[in-house]
Amino acid sequence: MPELKREVRPIEVNYVCDACGKGMMAACGDMDPKTGAIDHRCMICDHQQVFSWQPYPRVEHIGLDENF
Ligand SMILES: [Zn+2]
Repeated sequence: MPELKREVRPIEVNYVCDACGKGMMAACGDMDPKTGAIDHRCMICDHQQVFSWQPYPRVEHIGLDENF
């Protein structure tokens, strides 16, 4: 198979706190390798929530012609 190259742009993906609706959730621990659980904490109200496999904030890349 030949190499396939395309231009992409980075997108920052954040999760707004479910408790206060203002702060952003930020990963505060390592992923559990068995369950994928990652502890997160709100930077404003300290609300804690567990997300699986994908931490916030994170950067994803999408094609220039793609939308969110
Ligand atoms: Zn909060």
